[in-house]
Amino acid sequence: MSNEIETRCVHGDINSGLKDEHRAISYPIYQTASFSHIKTGHNDSGFDYTRESNPTRRRLEEVVASLEGADGATAFSSGMAAVSATFELFSPGDHIICSEDLYGGVIRLHNLISNKNGVTADYVDTTDIQAIASAIRPDTKAIYIETPSNPMMNITDLRGCAELAKEHGLLLIVDNTFLSPYFQNPLSLGADIVIHSGSKFLAGHNDTISGFVCTKDPALTAKIRLLSKTTGGTLSPFDSWLVMRGIKTLAVRMERQQENAVKIAEWLLKQQQVAKVFYPGLKTHPGYEINACQSRGGGSMISFNVDSQETALRILQKVRLVIFAESLGGTESLITYPTVQTHPDVPQEMREHLGITDTLLRLSVGLENVDDIIADLKQAFEE
Ligand SMILES: *Cc1c(COP(=O)(O)O)cnc(C)c1O
Repeated sequence: MSNEIETRCVHGDINSGLKDEHRAISYPIYQTASFSHIKTGHNDSGFDYTRESNPTRRRLEEVVASLEGADGATAFSSGMAAVSATFELFSPGDHIICSEDLYGGVIRLHNLISNKNGVTADYVDTTDIQAIASAIRPDTKAIYIETPSNPMMNITDLRGCAELAKEHGLLLIVDNTFLSPYFQNPLSLGADIVIHSGSKFLAGHNDTISGFVCTKDPALTAKIRLLSKTTGGTLSPFDSWLVMRGIKTLAVRMERQQENAVKIAEWLLKQQQVAKVFYPGLKTHPGYEINACQSRGGGSMISFNVDSQETALRILQKVRLVIFAESLGGTESLITYPTVQTHPDVPQEMREHLGITDTLLRLSVGLENVDDIIADLKQAFEE
């Protein structure tokens, strides 16, 4: 039976998967900590204790795995819990190469925790494959990238990275939060692990925190499951249900949000106070071609520079429909000030180098009427 991505958002893989015994259309919330056993050595339900596994979470994991074309997906209580568990794959003495433009929380995790545990990281411009190759050392174990990156929307060549990783026996880990599995599937291009902050496009309604680790290889899936059970940051049954409900509309949300984003990016380009627009859906974006070869869209995240800090602060203060808040990917349009909100823990020098300055704003385009969003931005731009 046909099983395209829109169908998988609603049903998961229709040819397999956990079915409710009462045939409920909406998979039930199994709000239980534990599951009974009939006798020793006999576990007919396959579930023991909810930290380890739970039917509602399992059902969600099956849906996400099917969207990413993964062997398995493991659901965590946040994107950062997913990243932290993944980093537990490494041991003291290991080295990781990361995109230099990265979610701020991941850089904090390196500085605060990985370093103390003897795992070191180098940040390189991963838009340049040669730069990654030059950073590989005998103790390098993985390449960790975001494409498009947060917040500069840099595009990294996934196939090129996968080839390099394979050649040197490294794990390729891709944070796929910004495009979601609807627009991009890094595992099919050679990545080993895909990470999601499910709090963003997957859940999609600015109401739930969650994270996923999607793995291509059964041995790696088993390792991540053991780490999730051991470190314990697994997703609750209710939150699993909320994310699953959100995913049912992922395809239509992504399409409309992208349609809105293209119009807004084009409008921004024409504004006198806008100095630069970073959106991979624009043909003028330096990563446009590569992104077009490895994904099905440019998504709905736009960063842009305005002419002065004064203008940036005025916009943040004057928006009324668009909300001044961190996070992204939900039904509501949000505008963020990366230098203060998402990247304050990145050293000033590094921020300047990357372009995360006090004139940079990041817009997550939501599902409102696009003319209303543009009208709101227009009045916020005015002095
Ligand atoms: C939000 C985000 C994270 C962290 O996820 P949480 O769910 O907030 O813990 C990681 N990577 C990217 C790209 C993000 O946007």
